[in-house]
Amino acid sequence: MAFELSSLNPAQSEAVNALDGPVLILAGAGTGKTRTVTCRISHMVDRGIAPENILAVTFTNKAASEMRERVGDMVSKKAGKEITVCTFHSLCVRILRTGIDRLGYKHNFTIYTGNDQTGLIKQIIVRKGGAQEKIEPGLVISLISKAKNEPGGIASIEDPFIADIAQAYANELRAQNAVDFDDLLLLGERLLREFPDVRDICRQRWTRITVDEFQDTNSLQMRLLQQLVGEPYHVCVVGDDDQSIYGWRGAEVANILQFEKFFPNPQVIRLEYNYRSSAAIIHTANSLIVHNIGRREKQLRSVKPGGEPIRIIAMPGDEEEAQFIAHEITDIHRVEKKPLEDIAILFRTNSQCRHLEQALREEDIPYRMIGAQSFYDKREVRDLLAYLQVLANPDADVPLLRIMNAPPRGIGQSAAILLTDTSRERGGSVWESMGVPSDKFSTRARNAIGEFTELILSYRERMNAGLENMGQVLLQMLEQTGYIEWVIRNSKNEKESDMRRSSIDDVVQQLTDASKKGLTLQKFLDKSALARDREDDNDIEKQRGVTLITLHSSKGLEYPIVYLVGLEEGILPHKRSTEEGTRDEERRLLYVGITRAQDRCTLTWCAVRTKWGQQHAGEISAFIPELDDKHIEHLDYDDIMGAEASEEDLANFFADLRSE
Ligand code: ATP
Ligand code: MG
Repeated sequence: MAFELSSLNPAQSEAVNALDGPVLILAGAGTGKTRTVTCRISHMVDRGIAPENILAVTFTNKAASEMRERVGDMVSKKAGKEITVCTFHSLCVRILRTGIDRLGYKHNFTIYTGNDQTGLIKQIIVRKGGAQEKIEPGLVISLISKAKNEPGGIASIEDPFIADIAQAYANELRAQNAVDFDDLLLLGERLLREFPDVRDICRQRWTRITVDEFQDTNSLQMRLLQQLVGEPYHVCVVGDDDQSIYGWRGAEVANILQFEKFFPNPQVIRLEYNYRSSAAIIHTANSLIVHNIGRREKQLRSVKPGGEPIRIIAMPGDEEEAQFIAHEITDIHRVEKKPLEDIAILFRTNSQCRHLEQALREEDIPYRMIGAQSFYDKREVRDLLAYLQVLANPDADVPLLRIMNAPPRGIGQSAAILLTDTSRERGGSVWESMGVPSDKFSTRARNAIGEFTELILSYRERMNAGLENMGQVLLQMLEQTGYIEWVIRNSKNEKESDMRRSSIDDVVQQLTDASKKGLTLQKFLDKSALARDREDDNDIEKQRGVTLITLHSSKGLEYPIVYLVGLEEGILPHKRSTEEGTRDEERRLLYVGITRAQDRCTLTWCAVRTKWGQQHAGEISAFIPELDDKHIEHLDYDDIMGAEASEEDLANFFADLRSE
C-alpha cells in the first residue's frame, strides 16, 4: 500500500475502507476530503480493482491535474495512466467524440467557448434586432445558458426576443457542427439516456465513480451521474455545502439530498478535523459562515492550535494595495526564505489583477495566473486556434469567418456577408457555400475563395495524415499565408511585435509538444477549449512563482500564505449579488477564500479604487464586521508605512553621520 492507513483518522479510514455501494462524505473545508478519496482510489487498486474501471470527476482542470498527480504518487505508473481523472465537461467530450453521430452531429464537432460564443451571439443579435440593438451579449448568453440547464430547455424562455435569439443560436450551432459548454453536458446526458448500448459501454468501463466538490454539481450533472452509475452503485461523492459557489450555474445544494434518492441507503461519513489551517483561521472562518441562514450546522475543529492573527489592512487605493503586497512578498521571500509558491493572492474579479500583475512585475516577482483568461484572449492566439479549428472542422463558421481574410486575401467583408447569406439560404455552412460560390461574386473574389479552400484542404490533409509534427505544419501554413509578416507589419512598435510574435511561438510550441505526445489535432483543440473555461493550461501551471488566482478557481487548493484583496462592497460581495439576492453565496466565497490559508491570512480593502480610469470611493465589505475579532488585527496602511518610513529615516540618518 502506497499510503499509510495510520495517517488517516478513524472517520477517514472508514471512508477509505467503504468501497462498495454509495458513499456520501460530508465535511467542512480542509478536513481531508480530497485526500481521503485519493487514498480511497489507491486502496481500490490495492484491492485488485482494475485501474481503467476507476473514474474520478472533479470540478476544475486544476483540481483534476492535482488529483491525478496525487493518485499517481500512490499507485504504479501504469495504473496511474489507466485511471480516469477529469472534469464533467471533459468526460462528456470523451463520450461525445465516440458517439455524437447518433445525435446527428459529426464526430469532428467544434467546441465554442468565450469569444467564439460571444461572436456568434453578437451576429445573431444584430441580425434579429438591427445594429441599434443594445442588449448585452453576455446577458443573452447567461439567460440561454440558464434555460438550457433547466428541464424545459430554451423553450422555457419567456421573453420572445431572447427566445428567438436562443432558437437561432441553436440552429447556427447545429449548422456549424458546433457545441457550447452547456451542450457538452446536455448532449452527453442525452446520448447516455437515449442509447442504452452507449450507456452500457460506459457503465462497463467505469464501475467505480468518485465525484469531488459535489456541492457544486447542478441538476444536469446530477442526471448525468445517474446515467453513468449503474447498480450496485459504487459511487462516492464528497462535498461541503458551505463551499457551494456556483449557484449562478444552477448548482444545487439540494443535490446532496437528491443523492440519497438516486442511490439509496448511502453510507454517510462526516469528517470534523481540519488539518489545513491554524485555529485562528478556522475560528475566523467559522465566525463568518454562521451568518448564512438555513445552513446545516457542522463541526470544524482545528488540529493546529493557535496561529498568527488574521490581518485586516485598510489601504488608501488599489495601487497601494498591490504595491504593499508585492513589497511584503519580496520581504517574505528574502528574509523569511519562504518559497514564492507558498504564497497566493486571491481576488474576486478579473479587473482586480491589472495592478497586482504590474506591482509584481515591478518587484521582479515571478507569478502564475490561474482563472483569468489572459492567454486565450490574445488576438493572435485566437487567430491561430481559429485556423486550427477550421482545419479540424471547416464547417465551423465562427473560426472560418475569423481567419478567412486574416491576413487579407481578397475575401473581405462584403464577400463574407454574401457567403453567410448564401449559406443561410442553402441551410449549410459557410464552408459549403465557398465550395460552390454564388454567381454574384467577381472572378477575382471567386479565385481568392478557390485558393483559400485549396489552402485549407491541403493543410487539413497534412494535419490529419499524422506523418509530420503538427506544430511544424502550422508554422509552414503561417509562413505560406504571410500571417506572421502581417502581424508584425501591423504592430505599433517593436515591443508589441515581439509580444505578438511570442504568443504565436507559444501556440506553435504547444502544438509541437502535443504532436510529440501523439495527440491528434482534435484532442489538442479539445484540451485548449476545456482549458479556456476560466481555467489555466497545464503549461501555465508548471510555471513557478506566486499564485494569482480567482476565488472561484481557488476551491480545493491550499497555500501557507494567503492575501485576499478588494474586500469592498460591490466587489466582495459582488455588486450583482445584492441585486440578485445571492449575498449568501458571496459569503461562502469569502469562506472558501479564508479556508485556503494554512498559516497566514491577510485581508485588504481600499478606500479608493480606479475603474476605467476613474476613481471611486470604496466602502469596506459588510462581511468584515461579521468576523469575530478574537484573532483579528486591524491595521492601516499609513500606520504601517509610517513605521517603515521612520526606519528608512533612521538609515538615512546613519548614512548622513558616516558621510560627514
Ligand atoms: P477543501 O474543502 O478545501 O476541498 P478537503 O476537505 O478536500 O478541503 P484536503 O485538501 O484533502 O481537504 O486536505 C487538507 C489538508 O489536510 C491537506 O494538506 C492534507 O494533506 C491534510 N490532511 C488531511 N487529512 C490528514 C490527516 N489525517 N493527517 C494529516 N494531514 C491531513
Ligand atoms: Mg478538496
